[in-house]
Amino acid sequence: MPYGAPQKQVRLQLNVNENTHPIPEDVATDIVTALARAVLGVNRYPDREFTELRESLAQYLGHGLTRENLWAANGSNEVIQQVLQAFGGPGRRALGFPPTYSMHSIISKGTGTTWVTAERDDDYRISPATVVAAIEREQPDVIFLCSPNNPTGTALELDTIEAAYDATKGIVLVDEAYAEFDDRPSALSLLNGRPRLLVSRTMSKAFAFAGVRLGYLAADPAVIDAIRLVRLPYHLSALTQAAAVAALAHAPAMLAMVDDIKRQRDRMVSALPALGYIPLPSAANFVLFGGVTDPNATFEALLAEDILIRDVGIPHHLRVTAGSEAETTVLLDALSRLFAVGRMTQ
Ligand code: PMP
Repeated sequence: MPYGAPQKQVRLQLNVNENTHPIPEDVATDIVTALARAVLGVNRYPDREFTELRESLAQYLGHGLTRENLWAANGSNEVIQQVLQAFGGPGRRALGFPPTYSMHSIISKGTGTTWVTAERDDDYRISPATVVAAIEREQPDVIFLCSPNNPTGTALELDTIEAAYDATKGIVLVDEAYAEFDDRPSALSLLNGRPRLLVSRTMSKAFAFAGVRLGYLAADPAVIDAIRLVRLPYHLSALTQAAAVAALAHAPAMLAMVDDIKRQRDRMVSALPALGYIPLPSAANFVLFGGVTDPNATFEALLAEDILIRDVGIPHHLRVTAGSEAETTVLLDALSRLFAVGRMTQ
């Protein structure tokens, strides 16, 4: 199945975990100035090494990282594809723990990598013992660990990542697309001394930059060199580089809404039980909730009210992005009315 989240122009787009807040106007003005400067040079190919961008990303991430540890591409989807082009491929196996981000398996298949899976523990957690047993059984070349995990919102403990690393001679890729919404320490803190550990991030979520397409990777410089073998020359346009560097110079302003989004996420988790639903705890900017008698009917009923959320294919569950306070109020009101109607017709 191809990736297929619906794209619809509706009042509340809460289906692909974007930041629903537009970027601040003064930051937008600076980005436009940077783009205007960059466009005067587009007769030439862009900096193939996107040196300034890697410098900005290293500064943003901290953890003692330098630009030699950084790589970027058009979304973390492309980063993941490049990682699998370099370290996966025919005859190699990638291990994941569903339910998880659908593109991990789709990109594995697209690069000829065999996709193998293992079960999670209760509440979608993964203990060190579970990850080690799965690695010993499946002998993967690449291990995908998504933290916080899409679509469940579950965060991984660092000891699970350490145990996975110690149990394999392969690559451990931690997908931290939603890390800025999680209060726990990042896998970035484990990079030192672990040359096969890779941490992917994106500007699409907390950073409110999904439309620009900028994902990135932190890893040992030798890993970055391996990716240089598979990337297409000049894959990051001069305009993308300029926009991302300008936005990273305003990181605190770009991330200003993160605390509010976390509050709305926590508000949904506290409010949903009283409406008859069963939310999972979430460390990301979305909530997966169960107790939905007929997810398709609820999805369609919300769409009829101009609200788009996500049916991720887990029976009796739906996933919704945490938006602004006003959006969350509209969503919770709609869900409460739907539940009341459902109760009357049962
Ligand atoms: N990883 C995870 C876990 C995601 O949920 C997403 C987007 N839904 C991505 C990676 C890819 O995001 P992007 O390509 O926009 O960086």
